[in-house]
Amino acid sequence: MATDFPVDSVCSRCLGRSYAKVGSGFSNIVRGRIVEFVFHILGLDLPDIVEEGSCKICSGSLSDLDRYTLAIAGRVSGYEFSNFLVGSTFDREVLSVEGSFQEVMGGLGESIKKEFNRECGKSLSETLKKEVEFLNPDLTIIVDLRYDSIALQTSSVYISGTYRKTRRDLPQTRWIHGDHPGDSVEEIVGIPLQEMTASENFFLHGAGREDVDVRMLGNGRQFVIEAYHPVKRAVDLDRFRETVNGSGRGVEISNLSFCDVSLIRKIKADTNDKTYRARVEFDSFPGEEKVRSAIEIMAGKIIYQRTPLRVASRRSDLIRERRIISIELEDFHGNLATLIVTAQSGTYIKEMLNGDNGRTEPSLSSLCEMPVRVLELDVIMIHRGENTDKNV
Ligand SMILES: [Zn+2]
Repeated sequence: MATDFPVDSVCSRCLGRSYAKVGSGFSNIVRGRIVEFVFHILGLDLPDIVEEGSCKICSGSLSDLDRYTLAIAGRVSGYEFSNFLVGSTFDREVLSVEGSFQEVMGGLGESIKKEFNRECGKSLSETLKKEVEFLNPDLTIIVDLRYDSIALQTSSVYISGTYRKTRRDLPQTRWIHGDHPGDSVEEIVGIPLQEMTASENFFLHGAGREDVDVRMLGNGRQFVIEAYHPVKRAVDLDRFRETVNGSGRGVEISNLSFCDVSLIRKIKADTNDKTYRARVEFDSFPGEEKVRSAIEIMAGKIIYQRTPLRVASRRSDLIRERRIISIELEDFHGNLATLIVTAQSGTYIKEMLNGDNGRTEPSLSSLCEMPVRVLELDVIMIHRGENTDKNV
């Protein structure tokens, strides 16, 4: 009985590939010749064995490897990378016909994609003198066999550090509706990096964020800046730091080092206590006694904060318990006071002071029984890797 093949002609390479899981040490072409010989001896049916160019499965795409290697080598010149990976896109019809053919042959084959990627990778590796890297390649090359095109994707360059922000009008990340183009920590740090790496885009990932009008002083906030789809990877970190810090735009970065994408998740899970300096104005003269007793009541205690209205669109409405670790009265003069507050991560400090119309309880405002306005707020220390509240 004649075997019913989905194609009437195949090349030796495609025939051999249908037994790729049998034996090792042979190329698919050699394996194909062995299969052809054995089938012939046993009197078994096979489609016509033809040249690769006439093959109904591969249409000769794998005999074109040298041409692809040359084209890729040309495309990647100028890119900085120490390793790479080749991927490919084949017509769905090709994969489907190949699948049916391999099934008829016993289901011991490998996909044409796999052979193409492996062989192209080998040949490129020799040409470029660079290693193939499967897990985390600097450069991924995708050959689209349908359109005979090559696309390159480089993995992002990640640099971690800490930033200080000395202005009260600077958001951490870009405004979505670009009213102030160039004016954010993200752009002040990211644009120089984008230029140094010739990258397509950049993203700042912060360990939490401060409000636009809050300065970030002291030891600074941890961040990871990502250069997306970079052409260059060898960033001179000293020059990067000096460029940002020398721009005089109110952002200073330090402690720079190259890092892994996994650091982003780690720093985003920020649970560090923070110390703030707040300048507040009481509605009328409260008397130092009253302020001191309010501070004593809150220090070391839990306060209850319903989600502030100003962030209610971004956060679910619930009541959070946060510990105020310590409060000091640094300065008190007329209706004005300066307080140093250390609080648990996630405390809404402005609301802890002004009470947010009763949504935070207790607050400096409720304990002093009068409206309190927060004039200025600075983060002056982020307690990384230490827990300032020994009772928690
Ligand atoms: Zn073929």
